[in-house]
Amino acid sequence: MVGALATMAFASSQAAAQRAPAGAQSAPLSNLRYEITFDSATAEKRTLKVAMSFDVAGPGPVLLSLPAWTPGAYEMTWFARWVGSFTPTAGDRALAWDKLDYDTWRIQPAGARSITVRFDFLADSLDNAMAWARPDFAFFNGTNVLPYPEGRGLAFPATVTIRTEPSWLVATGMQAVPQQAGTYREANYHDLVDKPFLVGRMDYDSMQVAGVWTRLATYPAGVLAGPARAQIWGDIAKLLPAESAVFQETPWQNYTVMMLFDSSFGGLSALEHGNSHLGIYNPQAIGNPILVSVTAHEIFHAWNVKRLRPADMVPYVYDRSEPTVWLWVSEGITDYYADLALIRGGVITPAQFLAQTADKIAKVAAAPPTALEDASLSTWIHPTDGSGYLYYPKGSLAGLMLDVLIRDASDNRQSLDGVMRTLYRSTYKAGRGFTGAEWWRAVTAAAGGKSFTDFAARYVDGRDPYPWDRILPLAGLRMVSDTLMEPRIGLASGLDSTGRVVVQHVLPGSPGEEAGVRRGDILLSLGDVAITDEDFGPKFRARFGKEDGQPLPIQVERDGQRLTLNGKVRLVPRVDTRLEIDPAAPAKATRVREGIFKGTTGP
Ligand SMILES: [Zn+2]
Repeated sequence: MVGALATMAFASSQAAAQRAPAGAQSAPLSNLRYEITFDSATAEKRTLKVAMSFDVAGPGPVLLSLPAWTPGAYEMTWFARWVGSFTPTAGDRALAWDKLDYDTWRIQPAGARSITVRFDFLADSLDNAMAWARPDFAFFNGTNVLPYPEGRGLAFPATVTIRTEPSWLVATGMQAVPQQAGTYREANYHDLVDKPFLVGRMDYDSMQVAGVWTRLATYPAGVLAGPARAQIWGDIAKLLPAESAVFQETPWQNYTVMMLFDSSFGGLSALEHGNSHLGIYNPQAIGNPILVSVTAHEIFHAWNVKRLRPADMVPYVYDRSEPTVWLWVSEGITDYYADLALIRGGVITPAQFLAQTADKIAKVAAAPPTALEDASLSTWIHPTDGSGYLYYPKGSLAGLMLDVLIRDASDNRQSLDGVMRTLYRSTYKAGRGFTGAEWWRAVTAAAGGKSFTDFAARYVDGRDPYPWDRILPLAGLRMVSDTLMEPRIGLASGLDSTGRVVVQHVLPGSPGEEAGVRRGDILLSLGDVAITDEDFGPKFRARFGKEDGQPLPIQVERDGQRLTLNGKVRLVPRVDTRLEIDPAAPAKATRVREGIFKGTTGP
């Protein structure tokens, strides 16, 4: 997962989910088939029509449950909330039913051998873990619409058939059943719910990348076309082989990149799967480096978390949370490898890599001191103190530190790549998750026996600041801090529904407040800098960064009237920290740095 948006406040308050009584068990079911109908008629009601058919292979009531969360989106949501018109039938006969808990239905077969359960699913959530419909399009996750028999294990095979308009397309990572158009099949429930579907009008093409079919499905049609589409394809062709090289295999038949663009969506959010990912982006992301950065992050997840995963989350369970202190490896180190894939694939330059790393250092410095383990553990409740999601940038930096320390200890003969590959082979390939002991054992082995007990206590379980002064020189890098004098106006702004820049907050005592700017004012210009979009900061700083106290006319619109307010430029100090290559670094440190940048080991 990667995201930058406000998340739902609802879920965490009900984290202590009522669950089906321990040991509750459905009658055994077989021959499970799901059918999802989404066409222009159901689209009008933003509804997916779901039909689940199965044979009853034993006595007792049938208990069907829907998941409470989608793996990768670490929050409790309870998809049963969006279910309506629940109707089980046997032939023409309606069957009696009630609910056993939030998201478990109890059906009395009354002798029926073959049952079909129908329900509507309201697809109104623009959230990549959920389901969303437009007049010509829908996406949904299996966790939303595919109930499973309670207490019977998840190793059952099933088919999913999509019924839609003849001219609409279907994109999914699920395996198509030959000679059955619109029908897909997986061998177990984990795979069934790990393959979201896009249905409708969209742009959909494919390309071989490093010998593997890669598909790109984008909505709405035409939004990512021409040079912008060619650009993202070109970037995927560069980054994916760099990621495969870490694990020395590309373990899927095909991979589907799913991108949705919607201007009502603030920021971006993407969710990983074993052979696809679903990203939702504001259209402003097109042409912005963030789009390829997120894409690199999500594709790397196909190895790191979908396959190589902390034991705490193996297997996934769907009716309760699965907290782990290791999310910093699954998310933070994935973020580190997203940056590495971009530099190793030639998508970004070393200078850009260092700028992104410095940005992460600044983010961590601005947040309250938080242990990686605690940030990992707490994500399910979405902390509000600024430590939420800190395991992304801070975990990424922990990955960089480990990489440097391993390469330094081994004279660049070993690397974090090797640790990831070792654990992938020794745990995922053995059908299990990795434990903390296995993680540190692999790190220590790569570093020639060096102990990481102190490192773990201080920088993973503890809250000590990261020792950049000691780490960076080992990789021929250094941190440079400059104090810059910058003009500040003290206004926080955002876009209103028509795309104008509106003042959302006026900092007390700021030049903006002194000039009389009010919350709700539309910003039109600062001096001779016209405000046409949210990115006026750099222009403003470039224009007014030289002289303290010079007059600053601020033009705003208030209640339909244009006003010019008289402000003054005020310069305030800002410490700018950046990383740079030390051209005079010793040969060993230079080898370490080049090894990280190029993905190579060896003297
Ligand atoms: Zn992620």
